[in-house]
Amino acid sequence: MEETIQAEIKRLATQLRIYSGVIDTLVSSLRLNFLAQKFLEKILEILPFEAGALHLYNPEENLLELKTYIGVSEEFIEKAERIIMGQGVTGRTALYRKPIMLKGQEPDPRAQSDSASSSSANMRPLISLPILPKTNSFQLPVKIKDELVGVLTLFPASNYNIEETVFKTLDALSNPLALGFINAMLYEEAEQMATKDGLTKLYNHSYLQGFLEMELVRGKRYHRPLSFVMLDIDLFKHINDTYGHQQGDLILKEIANILRNFTRTSDLVARYGGEEFAVILAETLAPQAYTLTERLRQQVEGYTFSGPEGPRKITISCGIADWEPHSPLGQQGLIFSADLALYQAKALGRNKTCIWEE
Ligand code: GH3
Ligand code: MG
Ligand code: MG
Repeated sequence: MEETIQAEIKRLATQLRIYSGVIDTLVSSLRLNFLAQKFLEKILEILPFEAGALHLYNPEENLLELKTYIGVSEEFIEKAERIIMGQGVTGRTALYRKPIMLKGQEPDPRAQSDSASSSSANMRPLISLPILPKTNSFQLPVKIKDELVGVLTLFPASNYNIEETVFKTLDALSNPLALGFINAMLYEEAEQMATKDGLTKLYNHSYLQGFLEMELVRGKRYHRPLSFVMLDIDLFKHINDTYGHQQGDLILKEIANILRNFTRTSDLVARYGGEEFAVILAETLAPQAYTLTERLRQQVEGYTFSGPEGPRKITISCGIADWEPHSPLGQQGLIFSADLALYQAKALGRNKTCIWEE
């Protein structure tokens, strides 16, 4: 009798430990990446699992994308990056929305293959794991009713059989987990809508202004210059008038991609408005900004845009104004100066970059 009570107390204590640990993590942030990572860390900390991965469901492409992982091999990461619904254990868990406990049926995804271990110099630090021919794994669909959010995969220590209490508790966590992730996804979506332009997915005008304001304050404090570049598509009205606005929108998107791909991560690229873009180049004075901007202009010039009437060439004109902490230019003055340089580039025949000079 006493033994039964003790076993029951132990079971409840285990459940409580798991619940409180996980719930604390789920309310700790609205950042999806952070949340996913912290959650996985917590599960591995409080339960006898050695490795794990979390996939999130992408309904647009109807597949699972690897969001975060701990302790798994590079080989696993490569294979598990994108999983089609129904494919493998993870895909089946997602498809049938049912937890799966696997006992020694598939190769251990934690084990390093020869090729993976020989090229493992730049690998994430892994928990040191034995190479096991077989594995036990536990796969939990993360869902609310039948709405799938993702799949959690856990690999226990080699000699551990998942107890029923742990299994049931993890199963019961599916709902709060899904809620936590949906919350974070909605928050990030709303944030994205407030700061990004819907068509090009570049930062929008108001974000650009706020960012520039902060950069000027930072620049003054730390004595760092910056350059502001304004870029405008040449004769864009003609393209719209001839081929329609839809075609024009496609070109705006493609130019946005070029600007994104050929700038540094420290640069901010935004859609200023209409067919005008702006780039803020941190710690950069006009001569260097000229080199970077010319590279952008040439990339656009060299790119072949596709359209219903066959390939087409498009060009942009660019104006640069730089700023130093002792500069008399304020925020609007800086933008206006770059705009003046842009007009000069247009006046000189377009497809050019000009630097503003007093
Ligand atoms: P310039 O070389 O002097 O810049 O000539 P332009 O024709 O590009 O200049 P203008 O300012 O006369 O025309 C800009 C055009 O950009 C007008 C408008 O049709 C187009 N435009 C602005 N925003 C959008 C948009 O969101 N989508 C599309 N398709 N076109 C847009
Ligand atoms: Mg314009
Ligand atoms: Mg234009």
